Amino acid sequence: MRSEKVQPIKKHTLPYNQAGKQRRALTLSVLLFVAAGAFLIPAVAQSASQVRVAFINVGQGDSIWIHSEDQHDILIDGGRLSAGPTVVAYLQDQNVDDIDLLVISHGDADHSGGLIAILRSNLPIEAVADNGRPCTTTICQTLTAETIRRGLTPTPLVAGQNLNVGEIHLQILNPQPTPKGDDNDDSVVIRVMHEQIAFLFTGDISITAEATLVANGLPLQAQVLKVAHHGSKYSTGENFLATVQPAIAVISVGDNSYGHPAPETLERLAASGAQILRTDQMGTLVLYSDGNVFWTAQTTHTVFLPLILREFPSSPPLQVRITHIEYDPPGDDVQGEYVEIKNEGGSAQSLKDWILSDKAGNTYIFPDFWLGSGQTVRVWIKAGVDDHQNLYWGRNQAVWNNDGDCAYLKDSEGVLQSTYCYP
Ligand SMILES: [Zn+2]
Repeated sequence: MRSEKVQPIKKHTLPYNQAGKQRRALTLSVLLFVAAGAFLIPAVAQSASQVRVAFINVGQGDSIWIHSEDQHDILIDGGRLSAGPTVVAYLQDQNVDDIDLLVISHGDADHSGGLIAILRSNLPIEAVADNGRPCTTTICQTLTAETIRRGLTPTPLVAGQNLNVGEIHLQILNPQPTPKGDDNDDSVVIRVMHEQIAFLFTGDISITAEATLVANGLPLQAQVLKVAHHGSKYSTGENFLATVQPAIAVISVGDNSYGHPAPETLERLAASGAQILRTDQMGTLVLYSDGNVFWTAQTTHTVFLPLILREFPSSPPLQVRITHIEYDPPGDDVQGEYVEIKNEGGSAQSLKDWILSDKAGNTYIFPDFWLGSGQTVRVWIKAGVDDHQNLYWGRNQAVWNNDGDCAYLKDSEGVLQSTYCYP
């Protein structure tokens, strides 16, 4: 059994061409694990820095970029071969200068193919990790060759390992020490912790592998779930959802002939109370965490067309955002509870018929109200007379649970514009 301490990665700034020799040594320090089975979560929430998780729109496939404010970057999967240039362009656009850890969840082409372009790009990569399964396809063999050319050796991940990449803490939950022998079910499953906020990345596991995770008592609770296998009907079972309890469920999916996402899965997700966000409908999705709360943002939609790399907005970027919930005010909750909403856009926005709701399904419908650029409005739950900074729900019962809740803000078309959750 290994018993090394978790070592935070040291950020280094050598240009790629000069970094060759140091990279190998650094790779080892990235992947020092604590003993299998012992999930150590940093005991103290030390910082209020931000972590960003982007579900890059790669069409059918997965590609997830995790970035911390202390300048660490993790990439999980790269979409299909043809999506590789899109992922490289996205990372360059975000000024990523170095990938600390590249994770290949499993060998399927819609996850691993695009990583070939990453390895062939001039982005420095410090470490590569995979599920340790044998390589059989041409894409997998090409990926292996490119990894070797970089002087890197993939580290096999297995349930029970923990690693820290800067402030980002990763718990490896799958594959199990005894693999299932199925490519999808042996996907790397990672729970990423940023203080109180957890993100669960599930690769393409099926209900069979989900049942093993639940039965083994692995820590699965997460506010944000990357839905397994692009919303396949054979994944995301009721038991698993009851254990994870996600507030947000992200489906990374594009045109496909498999029926992803399946109506049954969408129904199970909806019944669990999770808000469903889809890359095929919303483009690249970005979630932010400050360690205590998280929120969503929608950026631009990047589409790779043969020979042409194009970027265009899929819809106007989010501008109206929930910025604060006063859920446990001094004195009476009904008198003091409010939600603060800010217009961060450059022009005034009508909130007429927008809907604010909580996890329990309580809803407030906005009156004819304009929120000016840079302006903030409070939605109080008590009764009162509306003015240009305060709106009143008119309730005589509290709304916002003291032990954790989410607020969802939808526009008049029913499109989710902002989510704000607290533990
Ligand atoms: Zn897949």
